[in-house]
Amino acid sequence: MPLKRTCKEATALMVAREDRSLAWRDHLALRLHLLVCKACPRFERQMLGMRQQLKQWRNYTMPD
Ligand SMILES: [Zn+2]
Repeated sequence: MPLKRTCKEATALMVAREDRSLAWRDHLALRLHLLVCKACPRFERQMLGMRQQLKQWRNYTMPD
């Protein structure tokens, strides 16, 4: 099954997704993995939360 990913591969894809957009095949494989896996959706939520905080931090401007 070429679209099957291990948890390790899935998390690597989620990390890579932060920097670049995934190929449709990787994107699809990741979505499929997230549907069947219990651990990785939790990791994804944490990661999305982290990204949100990072965005807020980036937008923060130091008062003069
Ligand atoms: Zn997984």
